[in-house]
Amino acid sequence: MLLTIEDLHLYYGHIYAVKGVSFNVAEGEIMAVMGSNGAGKSTTIKALCGLLKPRQGKIWLAGRDVTGLNAERIALAGIGYVPEGRRVFSQMSVLENLLIGAYARRRESTLAQEMELIYSYFPVLERKARLLAGTLSGGEQQMLALGRALMTRPRLLVLDEPSLGLAPIVVKQVFALLQRLNRENGLSILLVEQNAHAALRIAHHGIVLETGQVSLRGSATELLENPVIQAIYLGGKEYQTPARTDNHAAPDPGVDADLVAGDG
Ligand code: ATP
Repeated sequence: MLLTIEDLHLYYGHIYAVKGVSFNVAEGEIMAVMGSNGAGKSTTIKALCGLLKPRQGKIWLAGRDVTGLNAERIALAGIGYVPEGRRVFSQMSVLENLLIGAYARRRESTLAQEMELIYSYFPVLERKARLLAGTLSGGEQQMLALGRALMTRPRLLVLDEPSLGLAPIVVKQVFALLQRLNRENGLSILLVEQNAHAALRIAHHGIVLETGQVSLRGSATELLENPVIQAIYLGGKEYQTPARTDNHAAPDPGVDADLVAGDG
């Protein structure tokens, strides 16, 4: 297993937010963490990314105990974090935002190569490299936050609600890119999403959190067919791609990331 979260208990002062959550992410897989508002998704991710110390439980990354390490050490250990709301530095250029990601890299090596790779995934970031990040559209800022996290060369990419506030077409583009990164680079991804439909279309496995506990877990196919998921989380199908054909290779939605450049 790449990531093992074992019996995690998290508090904000007296507020008991996460109550014994356990799950794994295998190398090369996309794991979706779903659930409604206040279920404990972001809190779990904060602990994983070193922003909240667990009161109880363990977090293992590639066999190493990373429980309680601070955010910088977690980044160095190989977790790339794309926070909710993107949080790009709006008064800095697109390029400067990307270079911030590079500072946290484990190895001092091939910056130019990494930039090239990032630009191949996000051509819009190359075209707008000199512009202030604040002038980008929401979708482009999401791409920038994603690119910045990838500059750390993560073993595991963790995204908190990447679809939040984005138009359905842009959500589709972002998810198509995540799927491409997973397939082409074998990147392992932990995807926190309220948009269960979008998440399960690209994920291999998923869990549902409810009031700080795991209420459901299974393969993406099982979860998509689960009547509870269908009733509660798949009621409004604002995002659709063709159904998956198997557990490991969802069809490519066929969206060119470059399109984001024109989404305004
Ligand atoms: P959302 O999608 O709304 O972010 P979530 O599943 O990510 O939902 P969390 O943000 O993890 O939920 O919240 C879990 C619980 O912890 C909720 O009861 C929430 O009110 C509480 N909580 C979250 N952040 C804080 C905080 N900074 N201080 C106190 N309580 C908090």
